[in-house]
Amino acid sequence: MTDLLSLTIHEAHDLLKGRQLTSAELTRAYLENIERVEPRIKAFVTVTGDLALQQAAEADHVLAGGGGGPLTGVPALIKDVICTKGVRTTCSSKMLENLVPPYDADVMERLKSRGMVLLGKSNMDEFAMGSSTENSAFFTTHNPWDEARVPGGSSGGSAAAVAAGETVYALGSDTGGSIRQPAGFCSVVGMKPTYGRVSRYGLVAFASSLDQIGPLTRDVTDCALVMNAIAGYDRRDSTSVPGPVPDYTQALLPDIRGIRLGVPGEYFVEGMQPEVAAAIEAAIKKMEELGAKVEREVSLPSTPYALAVYYIIAPSEASANLARYDGVKYGFSYQGASMWDSMEKTREYGFGPEVKRRIMLGTYALSAGYYDAYYLKAQKVRTLIRREFDRAFEKYDALITPTSPTVPFKIGEKVDDPLQMYLSDVCTMPVNIAGLPAISIPAGFVDGLPIGLQIIGKPFSEETILKIAYAYEQATEWHKRRPKI
Ligand code: GLN
Repeated sequence: MTDLLSLTIHEAHDLLKGRQLTSAELTRAYLENIERVEPRIKAFVTVTGDLALQQAAEADHVLAGGGGGPLTGVPALIKDVICTKGVRTTCSSKMLENLVPPYDADVMERLKSRGMVLLGKSNMDEFAMGSSTENSAFFTTHNPWDEARVPGGSSGGSAAAVAAGETVYALGSDTGGSIRQPAGFCSVVGMKPTYGRVSRYGLVAFASSLDQIGPLTRDVTDCALVMNAIAGYDRRDSTSVPGPVPDYTQALLPDIRGIRLGVPGEYFVEGMQPEVAAAIEAAIKKMEELGAKVEREVSLPSTPYALAVYYIIAPSEASANLARYDGVKYGFSYQGASMWDSMEKTREYGFGPEVKRRIMLGTYALSAGYYDAYYLKAQKVRTLIRREFDRAFEKYDALITPTSPTVPFKIGEKVDDPLQMYLSDVCTMPVNIAGLPAISIPAGFVDGLPIGLQIIGKPFSEETILKIAYAYEQATEWHKRRPKI
């Protein structure tokens, strides 16, 4: 019998299209598995079982009539930072614990019009601030490869659920690495599209100049299929880019002969685990065997400043974006002795410690007298980082780096040391700072713990990085391994 819980989207679609399986059967299998593993994995904030079965019945109706596309009737999980009409959207924060949005995010409209089956909303670091899902106000998600370890973050619930057979695919959001780092930690595929490629309408804002929504999937083909559905212009997001979207599945040719790949030395940072570096070296060799031209002369000298730049810009934007949670407009509201008292207590009780830390950092960096020294300086270095990438892409089609310097760490290991936690995203943050697309794909294991390989492309070259990722995937078996749970 086919293992329904490890099917990719395209495998599920073939069975659904061929009437060998119904969406109702598939959805029930996932709901049963969610019930079985959730007590240990804790990837879901909300399970929408009744809605999923209703959507599955509708999808079956469409499929029976010969209609439907690749995503029709395939179960999906959505990060709880993406607004879902009529379904609670919490951002894993007490502030929004009971918020039910009256509208859908653009990506939700697109997926619904393609016959999605919504299994629920996934756990995350509160307001997407973190790298381990330990900052969720509700509970920590566990890594299916080792339940004592973190799944990464902030899209940790989405990544863990894809790996644990709790959904076929998921959406996450990535501000500094939050799709790619958990994808690497859970051995699934995760892509952050070019800034502007996917609409942010209905994505609860963290740092608006860095945020992008993207897919978490079991293979590269699925990543292309989800990108086909969610990418495209939306007039409700002023940074959304007009123009046609390619069919990303056209890029899936296992031929990368002559492709020029750069390996920037700056990404092999101090403190990197030697086994991770070794796995990335092996992956680079594999790319060469496949005909890619690999060069190591590429240098991105401002890379070491990316972390500092990120932790000025992201908190600054967050402090402005989170000002709206005042207990008046929406979400949690504390009734205090006066208006000011209500506002203060609402924010004191509604936000967790990491969110407060970011608001304080951002407010400080933007305050009169410090603005030039911090925020303006960070914006200048941001331009330098972007220019260095531009220069590198004159010579290379893509850059190859590790996704993270280490394998998944233990739950509790870094919670008391924010700086250590921040360092887990050193390899992913420069990509958001420059607005580039990047993908993380499974590239090996150390003692049963996953390693992710990151491929970075020039703006709007999602097809190129999908192609390289696909060629590597076809030549390796890492993506076929599943954790035992
Ligand atoms: N870990 C980074 C942070 O805490 C990135 C998070 C993200 O991409 N949303 O800000």
